Amino acid sequence: MPTHNNVTWHSTYLLGVALLLPIGTIVLVTYFFARMNPFAPEIHSDPWAFSIIAVAGGLSALMATLLALFASATYRARVRFENEYRQLQRFLNEDVAKERTRLMRNLDLVSAAQQVSMAIKQEVDFERILSVVLEQLEHFAHSDSIAVFTIDEAGKAVVRAERRQGVDRFPPILVEGAIECSLVDDAVRIGRQVRQLNEKTGEFVLAVYFSTPDGVRGVVRIARNVADEPDFQDEMPAYEQAMAQLVRMVSLGLKTASMWDRAIKDEKTGLYNANHYQDQMKRQVAIAQRTGAPLSLIMLDVDKFKHINDTYGHLAGDTVLAEISNILKREARESDTPYRYGGEELCIVCCGTTEEDAAKAAERMRHKIACTEFYDDRGRLLPISASIGVAEFDPTRMKSEKDLKEACDRALYVAKEGGRNLVVVCEGEEQFTRLERSGDPGMEIKRRLGLAGDNSPLDGDKDPAPITDVKAASARAQLGESIDKLATGLADVVGADSSRARVVDTVVREATEFLTRNLSARLGGSLPAEPAKPKRKRRSKKAETPVVAPAESSAEAKPKRKPARRKSKKKLQEEAEAAIKALQAEEDAALNADSDRLDYLTDDEGEKLAKGEAPSKRLRKAVRKSA
Ligand code: GH3
Ligand code: MG
Ligand code: MG
Repeated sequence: MPTHNNVTWHSTYLLGVALLLPIGTIVLVTYFFARMNPFAPEIHSDPWAFSIIAVAGGLSALMATLLALFASATYRARVRFENEYRQLQRFLNEDVAKERTRLMRNLDLVSAAQQVSMAIKQEVDFERILSVVLEQLEHFAHSDSIAVFTIDEAGKAVVRAERRQGVDRFPPILVEGAIECSLVDDAVRIGRQVRQLNEKTGEFVLAVYFSTPDGVRGVVRIARNVADEPDFQDEMPAYEQAMAQLVRMVSLGLKTASMWDRAIKDEKTGLYNANHYQDQMKRQVAIAQRTGAPLSLIMLDVDKFKHINDTYGHLAGDTVLAEISNILKREARESDTPYRYGGEELCIVCCGTTEEDAAKAAERMRHKIACTEFYDDRGRLLPISASIGVAEFDPTRMKSEKDLKEACDRALYVAKEGGRNLVVVCEGEEQFTRLERSGDPGMEIKRRLGLAGDNSPLDGDKDPAPITDVKAASARAQLGESIDKLATGLADVVGADSSRARVVDTVVREATEFLTRNLSARLGGSLPAEPAKPKRKRRSKKAETPVVAPAESSAEAKPKRKPARRKSKKKLQEEAEAAIKALQAEEDAALNADSDRLDYLTDDEGEKLAKGEAPSKRLRKAVRKSA
């Protein structure tokens, strides 16, 4: 050790000085006594003795001085050496720290790449892969925001996802213009990565271009504030290189996801298909059997879908299926996966979920569907609802995924039998529980009358046909008002009582049918008078008795409706109460009889209703007949 040596040398010199002086003194004194013995006075005059004493003393002093000088020089050398050593050590430490940071960054990069490649292997959904990539990028890049753009056929960069402060946002939540897009177009144009560092604000933006072998191109834009990082400029090249490597994995994920998409997704709904359902279900059931983790299945079937197809066309049916699928995707939790099992049957596999929780989720979805207004391309309000069966995998009585599906199917069948627009849970071999409807039943009623949303057909702003006829316009407004009152009255009476809601449902279904067929025609023809029903005879009959009534006929219809409009809310409530009481008594019989019977109008009834007769008359008659 240099310090130790220096100290040793330094001490040695001091020791030398310290020893030399007494030794010299002792030697001189001894010599003095030996040569200048007071008992031999002749020696006193010996000049040699004095010279020797003087020379020896001088030499000793010289030696001591030299040694002292040498010690001081050594000490100074030691201090200089120590300073240099400390400086060297600082430089070394800095280099080691830099190297360590570089190493850590590389390790981080490797682990990020590992995470992403695992996601690419395990996940099939591009959004999920993207989510992992974004998370890793954010962690690695210390970014303030990251946005992923893909380039559409017209060469325009379309934002696909954004991550800001740990939260992913995927379209359609992204609002046009809400994402910062500077540099993205430049990166697309030159097909390379571009960067920008604003030295004043410290805002650093990096736009990394990527492309896949099958032609998908895109840009990942990373923004980071480096105002507090003076060394960032030195790190920048390494940082950019690492980012480019991670972004390359986005393109890999895109390629994998598009391959998977073709194999396991249904084009019409964007949900996973039945093949994928089989594969996943087998796996999930095996996991449930091994670990005992709960696994539930929700099976959903659109009510009267054949009628929707026959009446409004297959295109309308397809749109409804796609919209319901979107609702399921939005409502499903991270651990729930929706599938299109076949036709208009959709299902959701809920991993780690008991049937109680799955039933709650199913009821939420049923209510959401029942409260959504679906329209066909001609603006007609479609009577859409869905019935849902729920079952949980019970290893004591189920052997495979087939048994779970069967239990779920049975629950769905009970829901259909129970009047549709219902959730039924299979709790045992032949044990079924019909779930009480949650949410606001009044809202469901209003939706059925087209009054729930901004896009209601009764909303003047949304009407595609401009109102030129003042009479028709006022009739429309009055009729709209009375329908609104009717819906509000019914909603008040029904309140949160779901058994009442079920009875009112059938009445409302008829009223809706009646209104969609006749209302707009009476009010100026903004909606078609009659839905396309090629197989029905009614079309010719309708031609004889035109439903598209002129303004006079709507004026004629007015006096008939006036008393109803003038009725107070209380009166309306009383009437609705009375109707419900009469109907409630017949409910069971009505439900056990053919439940389709009351849903739609027969030809004759259509005629009567067109003349202004209340739809509930037939309902009462039909119920009485079945009883
Ligand atoms: P419910 O379930 O309430 O008993 O009555 P439903 O009318 O829905 O009865 P069913 O399940 O028998 O009818 C299913 C219909 O769904 C038959 C078929 O025309 C229609 N369908 C199946 N797949 C599609 C599709 O992809 N697009 C359209 N538009 N219709 C489909
Ligand atoms: Mg079906
Ligand atoms: Mg169906």
